[in-house]
Amino acid sequence: MKKLLFLIIVAALAFTSCQTQKNESKIDMNNPFFKEWNTPFGVPPFDEIKNEDFRPAFAEGMRLHKEEIDAIVNNPEEPTFENTMVALDKSGSFLNRVNNVFSNLSGAHTNDSIQAIEKDIEPLLSAHYDDINLNEGLFKKVKAVYEQRENLDLTTEEARFLEKKYKSFVRGGAELPADKKARMREINGELATLSVQFGENVLKDNNAFKLVIEDEADLEGLPASSVSAAAATAKEEGQEGKWIFTISRPSLYPFLTYSPNRALREKLYKGYILKGDNGNEYDNNKIVARIVELRSERAKLFGYNNHAEYILVENMAQNPENVYDILTQVWEKALPVAKQEVVDMQAIADKEGANIKIEGWDWWYYAEKVRQDKYALSEEDVKPYFQVDNVQKGIFTLANKLWGITFTERTDLPKYHKDGKVFEVKEADGSPIGIFYTDYFARPSKRGGAWMSSFRKQEMKDGENVLPIITNVCNFPAPTEDMPSLLSLDQVTTMFHEFGHGLHGLLSDCETRTLSGTSVSRDFVELPSQIMENWAFEPEMLSLYAKHYKTGEVIPDELVKKINNAAHFNQGFTTIEFLAAGLLDMDFHTLNEVDPNMDVAAFEKASMDKYGLIPQIAPRYRSTYFSHIFSGGYSSGYYAYLWAEVLDKDAFQAFKENGLFDQATAASFRENVLSKGGSDDPMKLYLQFRGKEPGIEPLLKGRGLM
Ligand SMILES: [Zn+2]
Repeated sequence: MKKLLFLIIVAALAFTSCQTQKNESKIDMNNPFFKEWNTPFGVPPFDEIKNEDFRPAFAEGMRLHKEEIDAIVNNPEEPTFENTMVALDKSGSFLNRVNNVFSNLSGAHTNDSIQAIEKDIEPLLSAHYDDINLNEGLFKKVKAVYEQRENLDLTTEEARFLEKKYKSFVRGGAELPADKKARMREINGELATLSVQFGENVLKDNNAFKLVIEDEADLEGLPASSVSAAAATAKEEGQEGKWIFTISRPSLYPFLTYSPNRALREKLYKGYILKGDNGNEYDNNKIVARIVELRSERAKLFGYNNHAEYILVENMAQNPENVYDILTQVWEKALPVAKQEVVDMQAIADKEGANIKIEGWDWWYYAEKVRQDKYALSEEDVKPYFQVDNVQKGIFTLANKLWGITFTERTDLPKYHKDGKVFEVKEADGSPIGIFYTDYFARPSKRGGAWMSSFRKQEMKDGENVLPIITNVCNFPAPTEDMPSLLSLDQVTTMFHEFGHGLHGLLSDCETRTLSGTSVSRDFVELPSQIMENWAFEPEMLSLYAKHYKTGEVIPDELVKKINNAAHFNQGFTTIEFLAAGLLDMDFHTLNEVDPNMDVAAFEKASMDKYGLIPQIAPRYRSTYFSHIFSGGYSSGYYAYLWAEVLDKDAFQAFKENGLFDQATAASFRENVLSKGGSDDPMKLYLQFRGKEPGIEPLLKGRGLM
């Protein structure tokens, strides 16, 4: 995401000269953004907001925000925490209100008009925020306050806000001498271009590979859905009557899992793992080397030895040693399990007289046989117990048991789509917490995936607690005339996960808007979400919500057992392929000196050999298509998923020890984690909750690795 911002900034510079319509609109009192919202809880009046209201509202929002920033910079009084930092935190509220509605609609319920506005507004917004972040007068004020921080008698949250703000200016280059500042801008510019190029190459090389099948016999074993998708692809390509499989995951995995044709599996698998590494015009090897080199140079401008140090200092992990420590500890436990998985698969292949040695392209095929053999779990058998409304009742029941809070549907509040629901969230004593929107069903106006977001963040303003308005958006199957929406196990997990992010937003109790709710580092933000997943399939929990949609019968014990057993399936492989990518990310970004002519493939191989990666497993992403780190915002950050899992599994252990619904443990988790947002150091918060540092054993047990 950060990378994207860089790009947008570059684009913004080119766009600012041609925006002439910005202020031509007069304040229109029919535009709901120019009025108080007299809705209950001040929720957005969706029924009144029209697409044409956004442009003038954005223009006014940016104008007001700039005015507020100028007022801070030009204030003749000495800079104080109040007149600089508080003023900064509270600035931009008009713009936030507009943008929160707009960005939520653009993700969850877009249309041509919103998309057109977005194209125009995004560059303007980036330039707007860039102007603030690079404002030298503003930095001077912030720095002056920062330098007096010891004498200001600040609360923990205030001190943290001051430090975070100051550092974000510094990390943006505010303190660098002119020549280094200029070099930094050059580096950022080149990195932005390279990362776009990297992403384009991945996409194009991905699309360049096709496995064309002409003989129907080669489709043996494949599910009907996979065959019809391949037929449709062939038709699109003007090869009607044939079947085309690609290395995009929905096409790749069913083929690798179900096709008994080993030669074809090998072809497809190799197509996948050689993406961006084919020596053609889409080859990413040189780009990887250059990105790694530039990042290293930039880190040195700031006095760090390498890029990973520069990134990690702002994360919970703090430094590369801590990341390596976690990754290698789990690696040592998972590698023998992965090797055993090879042995188990080899046994099946031998029993079938296949006369082969298991290779990378055999993994999915034989793992599936192991799965059927060992776990015999069919998704279709369990789905009827996970009707969407029942699962939603489940998450609300869970929150009620843990914190006494209640969710009451409010059908009188405005919504942006009829499928959505709105809930008023209250404490056990009836006092208000906030508003929770849910929007669960897939539709063409919604982008893919699942997420939590807010229409309004919690904060203290003029001595009053502003209540949060939070939303969860998913892409579950919509109900049809004769079928309710039944969720798969993954989708159930997703609902619990997003609800955890939702609680982080709802139960926030911060002063500062900037630090409230989910505004925490990447390796901490998934703790509140992932911990909720742990409850989903606990037998005690299932008995509360997993009821057959027709009969109301509680899910039988035998199915519960199967669900929980299958959680350990293939975890050696899953863990190792993840860790291999995480280690590769770290190895690139902890290089203190980068050879501009680095042989990327050789570097990757040496790195993997060093850890003893077995040949049957490739890293989850090889270097030439590792978009998270070379065209996304995850450089030196791929580890964060596992880091958060260490925390969530360890934190959940406290509930295992004290009782699944133990209210004292829940209260402590709320007080120390959920309510605090980014207002304190995450490890300190964690220690206050757990009383000890997180251990990795619960994660290992959860994955069946010990
Ligand atoms: Zn998440």
